Amino acid sequence: MQHADRFELIRFVKTKSGEVVVDREQKIEGRGVYVHDDPACIAKMKKKKLLAAALKTSVKAEVYDI
Ligand SMILES: [Zn+2]
Repeated sequence: MQHADRFELIRFVKTKSGEVVVDREQKIEGRGVYVHDDPACIAKMKKKKLLAAALKTSVKAEVYDI
């Protein structure tokens, strides 16, 4: 969602082992996707499977429980 600077960004990353994790320190190597640290944005991303599409992998439901 577009709401500029109101929220920090969270990075999700696909690790070398293929697992998708939250990377709060933004240090994990791998293909990453940034999303606003906003429950509405995270819920939308989950519902529309945007993270799975961006990372070209399946994403476990618990990944979104952050
Ligand atoms: Zn947003």
